[in-house]
Amino acid sequence: MIERTHCEQLDRDDPLAKVRSRFALPAGVIYLDGNSLGPMPATMPARLATVMDQWREDLITSWNRHGWHTAPQRIGAKIARLIGAAPHEVIVADSTSINLFKLLVAACRARPGRSVIVTEDGNFPTDRYIVDSVAELLGLTVRSAPRDALDASLDGDVAVVAVTQVDYRTGHLHDLGDVTAAAHNVGALMLWDLAHSAGVVPIDLRGVGADLAVGCGYKYLNGGPGAPAYVFVAEALQPDLRQPLTGWHGHAAPFALEDAYRPARGIDRLLCGTAPVLSLLALEEGMEIFHDIDMTDVRQKSQALTSLFIELVETRLADRGFELATPRDAARRGSQVSWGHEHAYAIMQALIAGGVIGDFREPNLLRFGFAPLYNQYVDVFDAVAAMIEVMDSDAWDRHEFRTRQEVT
Ligand SMILES: *Cc1c(COP(=O)(O)O)cnc(C)c1O
Repeated sequence: MIERTHCEQLDRDDPLAKVRSRFALPAGVIYLDGNSLGPMPATMPARLATVMDQWREDLITSWNRHGWHTAPQRIGAKIARLIGAAPHEVIVADSTSINLFKLLVAACRARPGRSVIVTEDGNFPTDRYIVDSVAELLGLTVRSAPRDALDASLDGDVAVVAVTQVDYRTGHLHDLGDVTAAAHNVGALMLWDLAHSAGVVPIDLRGVGADLAVGCGYKYLNGGPGAPAYVFVAEALQPDLRQPLTGWHGHAAPFALEDAYRPARGIDRLLCGTAPVLSLLALEEGMEIFHDIDMTDVRQKSQALTSLFIELVETRLADRGFELATPRDAARRGSQVSWGHEHAYAIMQALIAGGVIGDFREPNLLRFGFAPLYNQYVDVFDAVAAMIEVMDSDAWDRHEFRTRQEVT
């Protein structure tokens, strides 16, 4: 039997314990949903106040004077460190959905004569929808394969393989190197979606020779609701990559105001229009938290937190209808644990009402994300205690908890 005092000891020994105070976490809440929306960095209000001052006092001169203009590259370089890219291989722009569109079209153009885009069954909806739309626009076909059997769908017709490193439902973690190598074996480009992995899983895009990647700013990077996303393009591909959204900020000389489009050299050509400066600089403040973080410490704690959670639920809530939907092998999962349950939605609503915030995902999953920078071992213990309370008291079985809200 694991006692709470054991978890307290683990927190005392935790090399990342000091990082928690960098977040403004509300009292009385155990937040296990940083994989959907990271919490607010403690310094965020002051940073945004500074940006407001710049806007009010220095107006348009702020683009040069306060480095607003170079923020997409500057913040991209900070994200590059987390994903194993060179600083000039990453830029912050648009949303993940839009970046997927840009990179998928560009990838298909870079592999003329190939007629297939490969993606995976159950990939995040936006990824699937954008893949379908790009295929329709370019007259290509989509091949969707089970996550564990991508190889069988690969042949010389494939232009690009577009999959998500950590599955948003189950938390299953792809091997970055194996999948990239399989795509390259058939001459296809490899496009990774890092939305659920960057910031919690050590990633080495350069090491595995990945071509393209996208990811979110508002999940584990803590950039705030709707924070801009990022794009990675391997250096060797940059000179020839032609993305379709040829806005003026991706031009070689935006302020020359030429009539014809000429793409910028390097990663800047992935830009489209004017950046959303307020959210962009909020993302920079989120990235500040990572400046001294060793991702191997993060991975080690992530695996420990998720293993502890699985063990506690399986021992203390055995025979209560919770089915593990996440790989049991810690090496095969990201930083979330999902449980299938017949009453998943209502149970999660009851937990949220009691201050334990995870989320529900169709069709029957309770999903709990563990963010090693602020989640503690005692949070895991207390979250399981709350689950026991909700099940023992039947607190979930109320009309208000069964009624679906618009955002789940
Ligand atoms: C969260 C998430 C997105 C989100 O895309 P947006 O354009 O920011 O809404 C895309 N893909 C995956 C895999 C995600 O987890």
